[in-house]
Amino acid sequence: MEEYNGRKVQYMLCSDCNANCKHCYINFRGRKDSKIAKNELNLLKNKYDVRLNGAEILVNMEYLPLFKIVHQHYIMTNGMALYMDPSKITFLKENGINTVSLSCHFGIQSKISAVEIDIVRQVINMCNEKKVRVRLLTTLCKENVNNIEQIIETSIKLGVEGIKFTNLIKQGNALEDSSITPLDELDIIKALESIEKIRKKIDKTTLLIERCGSFGSGKLPSNFRCIAGDDLVVITPDNKVYPCVFLIQKEFQIGEFKNGRIILDKRWKNNGKLCLAKKICNEVNKLEMC
Ligand code: SF4
Repeated sequence: MEEYNGRKVQYMLCSDCNANCKHCYINFRGRKDSKIAKNELNLLKNKYDVRLNGAEILVNMEYLPLFKIVHQHYIMTNGMALYMDPSKITFLKENGINTVSLSCHFGIQSKISAVEIDIVRQVINMCNEKKVRVRLLTTLCKENVNNIEQIIETSIKLGVEGIKFTNLIKQGNALEDSSITPLDELDIIKALESIEKIRKKIDKTTLLIERCGSFGSGKLPSNFRCIAGDDLVVITPDNKVYPCVFLIQKEFQIGEFKNGRIILDKRWKNNGKLCLAKKICNEVNKLEMC
């Protein structure tokens, strides 16, 4: 057993959601009391770079003041809560949040999400009007991977600040859903090449184009390193600790959060060269724990 001494902590506030998307990787149930969260975050922030995550944080507005404690200026959302009550955008700003990271799954939105693409567009417009930046979070799978160029063109037209692509990881609801298919290694190599090619043509001030580590390293030279469990841990509301947000599952637990300390009692064999979640959830040859 040892105390975690890496850099990053993702603190999951709740599993509550207003959409129940079919591809959602969230695989825990529960919610943290906001007063307890406040105390715990005040301890954690002294030692770690802490980021707050949901599922859908905006269904519990009492969590918003916690963002200032950890100096987090963005919030991840499916947009529904902002669409239903646009005054929430003002509360975001009052709590130091200047960027909305908005789920927007071009080409597959109607298949997987209860939030219609038109609602997403309206939320983007509402945020633009109120001078809150928008960064799109877009899942890639076999059904939309060939449209990357078009997705980027549309994002620029929508006036968002950036887009981040994530690989579909078979976890949580995605385990049950057969309407979308994870990328194979060849798809990933092509997708990363395509993203890289477009990045060279488009200035970051026009659109910041990012990709999640969940694609792995691909074939391009990159500074990819999977930090799951080494430099990143995830704490769920029941104080269990996991190596990555995509690996919240009983078998993947690596420790516990007790008395303000993150204690690890297991590690995954991971040299950092591959995405641990992709390897475990999407590929046939599984990894083992140490
Ligand atoms: S397993 Fe590693 S590379 Fe994959 S999403 Fe998690 S932290 Fe990123």
